[in-house]
Amino acid sequence: MPTPDFNNSLMNNSSSFQLTVTQKTQLIALAKDTMLKAYAPYSQFRVGAAILTEQGNIFTGCNVENVSYGLTICAERNAIAGAVASEGGNEFKLKAIAIVNDRGIPCSPCGACRQVILEFGKDAVVIFQGENSYQSTTATQLLPTGFSF
Ligand SMILES: [Zn+2]
Repeated sequence: MPTPDFNNSLMNNSSSFQLTVTQKTQLIALAKDTMLKAYAPYSQFRVGAAILTEQGNIFTGCNVENVSYGLTICAERNAIAGAVASEGGNEFKLKAIAIVNDRGIPCSPCGACRQVILEFGKDAVVIFQGENSYQSTTATQLLPTGFSF
């Protein structure tokens, strides 16, 4: 598995919030711990996510698959659902999310998760496994023309 090197060239563009290296390291470590709990008997592809909220709380999630494949829920959305349940949907604001997978392969959030991440933090820092290291970007950079009405 690649080592985190935090080469964040994208981070300095439009994000008003910068994570410290310690915060990033903590989120990635918690995402890895939670990844180990994933329920992925069909894909064998375990994913973990850890989020930091505006209030300073951290929530984690992992992917939960189902025999009816379309019912599978991603790690990112599970972590966000936990934050909403704990802090309240109107209070919860996403500051950062780290996503890891058990193959150490480049893997950014899926389209559905990008939309849900955007809902709670347009400037949220999104950290995910890139080609050779973790990449950081923002929710808006990941989904520049997300759905809204
Ligand atoms: Zn997803």
